[in-house]
Amino acid sequence: MLTREKTIYDSGISVTSSTARDTDRSALRSWLAAWQLWSLPIGVRALLLAVELAAVCLLTVDIVLGGVPRDLSAWLIAGTLVILSGFHAEISLRAERLRRRIAETRYVDLSSVWTFAGALLLPPMLAAATVIVSYTHLYFRVFRPAGTPPHRQLYSTSTVVLAVYLVSAVRLIFPGSGGFDSWWAIVEIAACLVVYTGTNMLLVVSVIRLAQPGSTFLAILAGGEIALETATLSLGGIVAAVIVPDHVLLVWLLIPALVLMEQTTLIRQLETRASTDAKTGLLNAEGWRSRALQLLGAAKRDCTCAGVLILDLDFFKEVNDRYGHLVGDAVLRAVGEAIVAEIRDDDAAGRFGGEEFVIALAGMFTSASRNEEAVLEVGERIRRRIERLAVHVDDEVPPVAVTDLTASIGAAVYPQAGRELEVLLAAADEALYAAKNAGRNQVLVSHGPAAPPSGPSVPSPRPGT
Ligand code: GH3
Ligand code: MG
Ligand code: MG
Repeated sequence: MLTREKTIYDSGISVTSSTARDTDRSALRSWLAAWQLWSLPIGVRALLLAVELAAVCLLTVDIVLGGVPRDLSAWLIAGTLVILSGFHAEISLRAERLRRRIAETRYVDLSSVWTFAGALLLPPMLAAATVIVSYTHLYFRVFRPAGTPPHRQLYSTSTVVLAVYLVSAVRLIFPGSGGFDSWWAIVEIAACLVVYTGTNMLLVVSVIRLAQPGSTFLAILAGGEIALETATLSLGGIVAAVIVPDHVLLVWLLIPALVLMEQTTLIRQLETRASTDAKTGLLNAEGWRSRALQLLGAAKRDCTCAGVLILDLDFFKEVNDRYGHLVGDAVLRAVGEAIVAEIRDDDAAGRFGGEEFVIALAGMFTSASRNEEAVLEVGERIRRRIERLAVHVDDEVPPVAVTDLTASIGAAVYPQAGRELEVLLAAADEALYAAKNAGRNQVLVSHGPAAPPSGPSVPSPRPGT
């Protein structure tokens, strides 16, 4: 027992004295206690255990009832897929570690090219073994250096093993199709793709939702890059079609394409991260500025107007003082969502820092007065939506609901208030100060550097947060 326990965390110096044994036990206890797993909510731990048990049971029952496959060609394919997966992981180590580290929610794993091909071709036991060997290699070479805890890796491996068994069940529905030379094969691969990716998505999204109660299903899916996942699995379908003895070398040609896919994905992820405000998911100051400059450039080219709004929450310090910064952050996220809900996709919303948001409106009217009216109307819609917000934070004990939030907004319109972004921002900022001084909870629009701002007068109750 002692030796077995010890080899878990220390590769093998044998210890005999009782003091050394006690030290071993306490070291093992503190090693286990340090696992992030114990700090997870009970619901998450229950789901992890259920999925892992289901995968182990399926595999065991399959081996006991079905026995180990004797088909040599299946073993050869499994071995080839493991080698390809290992080679692919080794030549894209740096990009993958970085991608793993910066993945916000669901990380799309490009090794599914090989594991999905295995699921399509092999008996499920061998396909599952391919998954386990490839994922163990990936864990030690990519995930562990990128900081992925072991329980997460065990869970992803189990979800893929379950997906492999479900795919083999789907293949039973298409008996006799076997080959890859008919339309049925495409239908079969598409059905397997949906089941494989659907199983993973469902299980991974469920655990993320349990671990982060505020997160929405769609936001997690969007973070996972569905297009990349579909492309990867489609390549897996092609691998399954060409990995026959005559053409096996052709499969190696896919590796440069995969490396390129990895690198372009990484560049896109880094670009998005560099321009995103982590707290709200809106653009950060830099990202917003470059998007606003693009919108302004388009307005100049097309001789249309554009608008800039600066929004500052009223008495936000009181929210922080009363409920703490975590609830304050939840309010900032909710305000970000409220802003996005009131503007169009082409407009740009960002957080400048603190509780100050900026919005650039594109493609406005060409007449000055209608343009100011339109900007004012958008500002009013946002102001009213924030007034109606009720931000529920269930993680707090007791749960908190923050209401009676208000915001002051200053607006400026191109070209009336200025032709350059900095000038427009300064004019909007001036209007914001005027709105604060006039009693808060209102929108004022600047008529230009010299003219005093105007807007509908709105009563400004102090928030009762
Ligand atoms: P006013 O109506 O004059 O704008 O009052 P205010 O309390 O909103 O303004 P003030 O500038 O005095 O305070 C802003 C507060 O925003 C101070 C700080 O506690 C809070 N804050 C700034 N950044 C963050 C953040 O990232 N998270 C949280 N929770 N609070 C922040
Ligand atoms: Mg402020
Ligand atoms: Mg404020």
